[in-house]
Amino acid sequence: MQCEILIIGAGLAGAHAAECLAKAGRSVLVVEARDRVGGRGFTRGFAQQAPVLEFGGSWITPWHERMKDACRRHGIDLQPTIPVTTREWHDGSFLRSDGPVAPAERVEYDRVIAAIVDDARRLKQGFDQDRTGAPLLTITLDEYLARHRVCRSAEAQIMAWWTISGSGDPATVSAGEFLASCGYIDGTPEGMMQALTHTLSPGVSTLVDRMISSSGARLQLGFPVARIEQGLDRVRVMSRDGRVLEARGAVVALPANVLRDIDFVNVLTPTQQTSAMRGHDGRAVKLWLRLKGIAPGHLVTGGLTGLQWLFAPYASENDTVLAVGFGLDDSSWHPDRHADVAEAVARLVPQADLIGWDWHDWCGDPFARGTWLSAPAQGADLSAANWSDATRIAFATSDFAPDAAGWFEGAMSSGAAAAEAVATLR
Ligand SMILES: Cc1cc2nc3c(=O)[nH]c(=O)nc-3n(C[C@H](O)[C@H](O)[C@H](O)COP(=O)(O)OP(=O)(O)OC[C@H]3O[C@@H](n4cnc5c(N)ncnc54)[C@H](O)[C@@H]3O)c2cc1C
Repeated sequence: MQCEILIIGAGLAGAHAAECLAKAGRSVLVVEARDRVGGRGFTRGFAQQAPVLEFGGSWITPWHERMKDACRRHGIDLQPTIPVTTREWHDGSFLRSDGPVAPAERVEYDRVIAAIVDDARRLKQGFDQDRTGAPLLTITLDEYLARHRVCRSAEAQIMAWWTISGSGDPATVSAGEFLASCGYIDGTPEGMMQALTHTLSPGVSTLVDRMISSSGARLQLGFPVARIEQGLDRVRVMSRDGRVLEARGAVVALPANVLRDIDFVNVLTPTQQTSAMRGHDGRAVKLWLRLKGIAPGHLVTGGLTGLQWLFAPYASENDTVLAVGFGLDDSSWHPDRHADVAEAVARLVPQADLIGWDWHDWCGDPFARGTWLSAPAQGADLSAANWSDATRIAFATSDFAPDAAGWFEGAMSSGAAAAEAVATLR
């Protein structure tokens, strides 16, 4: 056998599992399909040049203790997110600097936000129904918006914050994804901004690299796993080109949406099989834009189509800023098309010139097949409980984490739980 425990996937979940297992005295081999570690944590240069930016996940919140601890242990600095200095809203028809809606529509807008605050607080308290007994988790965002008869200007703001929370098709994804994120601070969608307090310097990719190399685990890049078999006393893993590895146990630290591509033999329960085939619906588009003509700290949301959320955290060379934008991967636009990106800039930041942009296509990426956990309202059990049925194989990913699912922090907690499940295998 090449090692005692094999870890498949060198994202944060796999890296933390490697740390925990090495600490427990097990010999560990991490295999990874790509030629880099980090997975959906991906720090690289803007347009292949400086500065380096996060093209996958970037922010952590004040309560992400495992991440803060990992940063401390590995000499990674936490960089505070700069405050919002200027704020604009697109109400679906016009860009506004006086508030999210025209004064005449304010009462209607405030009614919708008050309902969201109430529902978000109830969800945080552990209720899965609103005050009238209507469900909050098993309905889609579209159904939720219809229930509250949301006006167009409120919808523009909700959809903008949806791109950084629910982040998938509002016709299938649970409204709970949005309400849970509103509940992080004060129940409002806008409160999400206050949760995004820090990024990592020099970056998530460096953190993962340091976690694996200091654990003492061996790492093999360029090993795309195609088949995983569970036997009575061992696990057998085969790569797409036929290389075989054997171990006493394994941690499968792969994104939920690639599990359907793996040939599992004697591994998955029927509910896990259903869940793997369905996957999650996270289909955000994250874009970095170099803009001239706005100041760092500018935040604009709304617009109902294409890019819907844009924030400029960094000043850059020649009086430019680097702004991060979010939209959904849908048919309304394509971030590779100059005309679509230019249209978004003209709509959301007409005072700015577009100098350049860069992005990573996570939905088209065969080793991710989506962005972060976005749970469908129906039909896929992505709970940690459904995926914790370990014998010789344990599963780890932020997509079904015991807590903070969808976040880096969830990858860490699921990595720790999976490591514990296989740590004493003989
Ligand atoms: C655009 C974007 C923005 C995000 N923003 C944030 C944020 O601000 N804050 C936050 O906390 N989280 C954010 N996230 C989520 C966060 O990035 C993820 O939750 C986290 O990185 C997932 O870690 P993981 O280890 O579970 O999975 P991954 O990072 O996906 O790691 C899985 C690994 O498995 C490898 N793999 C896949 N298939 C195979 C195979 N067949 N064989 C071998 N290896 C394979 C992959 O290459 C990858 O390295 C964001 C994600 C994206 C995409």
